[in-house]
Amino acid sequence: MSEESRLHRAAAHIETTARKEPSPGRDDWAAAPVSNAFGQSSERYAYLVEFGPFIPWIALPNGTIVDVGPRGLQKLGFATHEVLRAQWRSTIHKADRKVLQQAWRNANEGECALEIECRIRLADGQYRWFHVRATALRDPYGQILRWCGTAEDCDERRCATDKLRASEERYRLATKATNDVVWDWDFNTGQLTWGEAMCSQLGHVLSPETNHGDWWKAQIHTDDRARVSASIEEVISTGSSERWRECYRFRRGDGRYADIVDCGFVVTDENGKATRMVGAMMDMTERNRAAAALHLSEERYRYTIELCEQIAWTASHDGTLIEVGSAWSRLTGRPLEEALGTRLLRSVHFDDVTRLRSHWKQSIATGQPLNCIYRLMLQDGSFRWMRSRGAPLRNDTGVISRWYGTTEDVHEQRLAELDVAWRASHDVLTGLANRATFQKCLEGALQRATLRGGPSAVIIFDIDRFKLINDRYGHAAGDTVLRWIAERLTALECGTPARLGGDEFAVLLQASNQVGVEQQAHDIVSALHGVVEVDDIRIECQVSAGLAIYPLHGPTAEELLRSADLALYDAKASGRNCLRPFRPELRAELQRHVSMLAVGREALSAEWIRPFYQPKVDLLTGKVVGFEALLRWDHPTQGVQTPDTLAAAFDDRDLGCQISAFMQRQVIGDMRHWLQSGVAFGHVALNASGVDLRRPGYADELLGRLAAAGVPAAMVEIEIVESVFLGRDLDIVEEAFAILSRAGISLSLDDFGTGYASLSHLQRFPVSVLKIDRSFVTPLLADCRDAPIVNAVIGLATGFRMKTVAEGIETAEQALLLRRAGCDIGQGFFFSPARPAADIPELTRRRFSQCLSGVAALNC
Ligand code: C2E
Ligand code: CA
Ligand code: CA
Repeated sequence: MSEESRLHRAAAHIETTARKEPSPGRDDWAAAPVSNAFGQSSERYAYLVEFGPFIPWIALPNGTIVDVGPRGLQKLGFATHEVLRAQWRSTIHKADRKVLQQAWRNANEGECALEIECRIRLADGQYRWFHVRATALRDPYGQILRWCGTAEDCDERRCATDKLRASEERYRLATKATNDVVWDWDFNTGQLTWGEAMCSQLGHVLSPETNHGDWWKAQIHTDDRARVSASIEEVISTGSSERWRECYRFRRGDGRYADIVDCGFVVTDENGKATRMVGAMMDMTERNRAAAALHLSEERYRYTIELCEQIAWTASHDGTLIEVGSAWSRLTGRPLEEALGTRLLRSVHFDDVTRLRSHWKQSIATGQPLNCIYRLMLQDGSFRWMRSRGAPLRNDTGVISRWYGTTEDVHEQRLAELDVAWRASHDVLTGLANRATFQKCLEGALQRATLRGGPSAVIIFDIDRFKLINDRYGHAAGDTVLRWIAERLTALECGTPARLGGDEFAVLLQASNQVGVEQQAHDIVSALHGVVEVDDIRIECQVSAGLAIYPLHGPTAEELLRSADLALYDAKASGRNCLRPFRPELRAELQRHVSMLAVGREALSAEWIRPFYQPKVDLLTGKVVGFEALLRWDHPTQGVQTPDTLAAAFDDRDLGCQISAFMQRQVIGDMRHWLQSGVAFGHVALNASGVDLRRPGYADELLGRLAAAGVPAAMVEIEIVESVFLGRDLDIVEEAFAILSRAGISLSLDDFGTGYASLSHLQRFPVSVLKIDRSFVTPLLADCRDAPIVNAVIGLATGFRMKTVAEGIETAEQALLLRRAGCDIGQGFFFSPARPAADIPELTRRRFSQCLSGVAALNC
């Protein structure tokens, strides 16, 4: 019987029973009056109902149940009256009601069968899944007469399906979470199914071609393929229950290889034959790379530690060493025990123990990292510089639980640092403190002296004619003299000595009173006067020194040094080999000196300089035989100025030479003009200072200028002062003299008698004129017939076949006396002061014979 006809029958039966509602129950159902055929069928139906899995039911079009199979009621645990007409909808699980309603409506409207699965509450309150089917019985007009249906208990199947679905979902999520490529190889079909990770992780696009064991093997790196194939074939052929595991390289979708760990299990049938194999591939590429990097870093760390020979250590919270690396023994040659606890301090240099201890204490107290350098004693008793660094490890509450650190040998580096520091503060040649250090010492000493009240003093000195020693005996000899000075100063043990630079030294003195300081200063200067032996040469060494006392000569270190410097210049100007204390006037002199240089510089750059000419007169004939060119400069408001306003500039190396050159060009220009104009000016004398003559090239440049102007060299005379013979670079001076005199230029010794020229100089140098200084001429009075110095100079000059020129003749008497004494030429205001170039043609025409003869007539 088909299900439909069965339902029709059931419907008919229900119609009958519905009319005699309420239904009396199972027994009445069985006892209902039926025809024979129907009875048979009914019997079969009842049998089916009794033993089938379905619960038949019949409902009115509005859904009111009018009949339910008795076995079904039993199954549900309800009595018939509890179901019939009851609001059975309430027995449907809330979550399923909507679906049921929708299905009912669909069936109603679409005139189709209803089929859903829903949960129905049993009498005990439990829900079970039922497969509900129903169809509507309609009249010829399509109106629903009854709903006939069955409800089949499908709870077990449904739960199993749900469980399976959940388990599959779990499995899917698990594989997704692990990124493993799950695979399932069915040996019956040959199908190899891949999990989605084959796409997401290994970048392959799945296709029928990929679902095959051969495809998998083809992606294995050729070097690994044979091994992996052999091992999987082995487990498949033996049906081994052991886990199969292989590592190999597997080609990804992008062509690169991934490091794979593949595991699987063989599933066998009852005969032990492998039917399928299930497994998962894990991509280990990143993990392997990370592991390799970690390994490399660990190795690097290990090598670094080993190669750097750092001693790793651990200390307890209170600084007690509890663990020390083996490098300790390698570095120090001493057993490890000697480093543990607080024993390490026993091996630390005595001078460094306190510092190390206080650093450690400070770190422990504050938690600041430790960083300390100290000397550590090795097995052989020598010391090496070490640096210990440490950092604290804190527990969760921030309390220090351990100190971890390293100690490394920084000996060479430390020595280099100390050497650099020493060089920065000392003079390498002599080992004395340098200027910067001296300055610092001085500042400290002055502060102490202020508190203490006693005097401090600075003595600055330099070696007399040190340049000469260097030039004559070489720099090695010069260095020996400098070292000799340093040794002497150190041996004297008075004050703090320093080399300020070049041949300049300083000593910081301290005594209870000023007399004591001065005494010390004198002792130093005399101790430094001695003979230094360099190989076979004996070099006489002496110094000039300046002394400045604090606070008398300067309130600060800087000013005190400046005062001592001034005193030193004073000592040099006073003839060297002496000690001069500072005098306040020296400052004014310095000021004057500085301002003279400024004036000289300005006059030169503004081209205010021009020569004036003072005539030189033959004392016998009264004729002008020549002129002396004297510098003048035109002040824009104060008129013509004499050279005393810029005298210091003549002795300045650069400025003096520039002024000389400027004067030369002007004078030579004037001479050229006079020559061209036929002015018989005789000769012109140019003054030359020491800096001019010591400059190589002076003579040649002068000759060059003369030649260029067409002025004969013989018309030029050079006046020099005696100090030129006493200065440095005498060989250069001598050479200049030789060049000039060879060219016919006369040399005239100016201010003779005031300096220190010796007779040997007159003999050695080609001097042809002696100029008697004004200071000898001025005292010559009319009634003074005796002029011993003037007579002596003239006698000397005659002896050397030199001419004599008397300077500063202001009176006729002086002129007369000089002429009488045999002086050749006179120069002075008596004849004429220096005049500008424009006046010279007129002056040359002047005859002084008349005034000379007048004087002569007066006295004769
Ligand atoms: P000096 O070479 O001894 O020049 C003579 C100085 O005596 C000149 O002073 C001159 O004006 C001055 N004088 C001449 N007759 C008399 C006199 O009868 N009574 C007095 N009281 N003084 C007289 P001036 O021109 O002031 O020059 C001073 C010094 O300046 C010169 O002394 C010379 O050493 C230096 N000087 C001048 N011009 C130059 C120059 O171009 N180069 C160099 N290196 N030094 C120069
Ligand atoms: Ca002169
Ligand atoms: Ca002079």
